[in-house]
Amino acid sequence: AAQRIFNFSAGPAILPPEVFERAAAAVRELGGDGHAKGAPGIGLSLLEISHRSQDFGMIHDRAVELVHEVLGVPKTHQVLLLQGGATQQFAMVPMNFAAPGSTTAYVDTGAWSTKAIKESQAVAAGGGRGHETAVLASSKDTGYDHIPALPEHLPAKAATAYLHVTSNNTIFGTEYEAMPAVDLPLVVDASSNIGSRPMGLERATIGYAGAQKNLGPSGVTLVWLERSWLEREVPAGVPNILRYASHAAKGGLLNTPNTFGVLVLGLVLEWLRDKGGVAGMAERNQAKADALYTVLDNSDLFAPHVPKAHASSRSRMNVTWTLGGAAEDGREALTKRFLAEAGAAGFSGIKGHRSVGGCRASIYNAFPLEGVTALCEFMTEFERRA
Ligand code: PMP
Repeated sequence: AAQRIFNFSAGPAILPPEVFERAAAAVRELGGDGHAKGAPGIGLSLLEISHRSQDFGMIHDRAVELVHEVLGVPKTHQVLLLQGGATQQFAMVPMNFAAPGSTTAYVDTGAWSTKAIKESQAVAAGGGRGHETAVLASSKDTGYDHIPALPEHLPAKAATAYLHVTSNNTIFGTEYEAMPAVDLPLVVDASSNIGSRPMGLERATIGYAGAQKNLGPSGVTLVWLERSWLEREVPAGVPNILRYASHAAKGGLLNTPNTFGVLVLGLVLEWLRDKGGVAGMAERNQAKADALYTVLDNSDLFAPHVPKAHASSRSRMNVTWTLGGAAEDGREALTKRFLAEAGAAGFSGIKGHRSVGGCRASIYNAFPLEGVTALCEFMTEFERRA
């Protein structure tokens, strides 16, 4: 029998086996009720039907409805299932909403925030409406090992287009405990912790998340934004495809969406609903993260990237650590050995991002507690032998 593999990939990442089953069925033949489960089938694969067909229309509308119902996005917000990834949202947000003479404000919590900041600057440089990009706080100086506090005096609301935060930092393994309580429109990149626990993400003025961690496959990006913002004037030079209002005016089907991605996103949200929703998930995710941090905090060999002193900044989705202990030059060899042995033991995808080094265990919603328990035992055993 094949060895059990525990998939710790940072993304595209693990999805529930039930979702794979249902998605596979829909690829073979779409159920007549618009669901992979339903019978009788329509005699066609999901992959070969028009995005304008009634069958796909049902799948799309159902996915949008589940975003409201399961993720709690209020009906005051427009939901869009776009392409281009979270990376495209880095650009679309300032293109659409950096008003003339305004400041777009950012918190710099790592590589993804930095990319978002650069896109705001690029939009201004490329003939935008002359906005400024301000970085209000950063934890760069300490290797992004915590979520930095906002300054006491925030920029004036009237002159600030929005405040952008990354709710979970996939690479460094930090996460906001709660959304900052500020009197500014909040824009949230929730790519790597959407749907993982109740934390108010859904109430952001604009939120977005690439689906490929907690929501589905790559190639579909969940966006939600306050409907009133769709009325705002956008410069003539912004192409139609990059305007939220154009997508919204066509009911989210301005052009051909990732039909497969939309189906799977809906299936994942049904699974999430059946598992007790975001609140039910929160409990399991906390237990998984606690188990790993406990091993890290009690080890002389493994050192968490986010120290215990910054426990409130620790991510429940991406747990990062390095191998310490021996002399600097011995570390690299030890890390290599650890990763090789972990890989051979069936722990897949725990090599850390190159910018942090070491290891990263991504333990998204669909990741089972037993996989975390097995990794904890493996780490404890490795330390005993090292
Ligand atoms: N933001 C965060 C927090 C991410 O983790 C990622 C991807 N891992 C991105 C943005 C970029 O997403 P995409 O590749 O979908 O553009």
